[in-house]
Amino acid sequence: MAVSFRRMSDRPTSGNPVAGWLVEAADALTSVLFPADCRICERLLLTSRRVPICEACLQSFAPLQGPLCATCGLPASTWSLGPPSQSGHQQPADILCPACRMGSWGFDRARSFAEYKNALIRAIVLLKFEQIEPLGRWFAEHLRALANQHNLQADIVVPVPLHRQRQRERGYNQADLIARPLARLLGLPYRAVLLVRTRPRPNKQVLTLEERWDSVRGAFATRPGSQVDNLRVLLVDDVMTTGATLDACARALRAAGAKSVIGLTVARAARHPLAGLVESNQ
Ligand SMILES: [Zn+2]
Ligand SMILES: [Zn+2]
Repeated sequence: MAVSFRRMSDRPTSGNPVAGWLVEAADALTSVLFPADCRICERLLLTSRRVPICEACLQSFAPLQGPLCATCGLPASTWSLGPPSQSGHQQPADILCPACRMGSWGFDRARSFAEYKNALIRAIVLLKFEQIEPLGRWFAEHLRALANQHNLQADIVVPVPLHRQRQRERGYNQADLIARPLARLLGLPYRAVLLVRTRPRPNKQVLTLEERWDSVRGAFATRPGSQVDNLRVLLVDDVMTTGATLDACARALRAAGAKSVIGLTVARAARHPLAGLVESNQ
């Protein structure tokens, strides 16, 4: 069996070369003793990885590129059928998608790491139902880069909450697995329980567009006594589909006095929401 050492840059080791070496050695040993398959493509992982997904699958995620809607972050390629702009990947400041031209959101801006398709859908499922925390940290590192790239300014980080009943059943909130390490990476205070879901999602597996909006409208509130007044909030979730959940959360935060709300998600359903995507969130 091939054993190869991970690059030092693959994992933070607090800058300590001895600690780094120990991590590398432990990884190599683990990969010999406990060979594992990539949880997406099932190829044997040749290096021990905390993230149980091979490099090829991770590299297959499709980061959102090119001009994006200035507000909701939807790639222009999904609604514009015209030729690509001459400015290449430069971001025009005022480009808006049809939905953002027609109405306004509860959040100020939303951005996502990659398109919700193929291997990323399976990775999100792993995060959501198997609590793979290293994958949450991997996503957090990419969201940190995204926050820097788009100069997203915030004072606190808040996860989109589950209803307490759902959280009790699952034992954790998948948004928390991303938002908590992200807050640490950004050096911002983390407010895990600032926002609560007061009304559960309907039990139906697939919701229509209207049901989806109805199910989240007014379904979130800030916890009494929580301090959000005049703060800029970074609101984190795994997937943005219609934007209804981020919108409802942002409205609750704004009602409690938040100065601004930026939605940040790992994945973005880049097809038009009317195409009938399944609401996988919550
Ligand atoms: Zn793979
Ligand atoms: Zn938009």
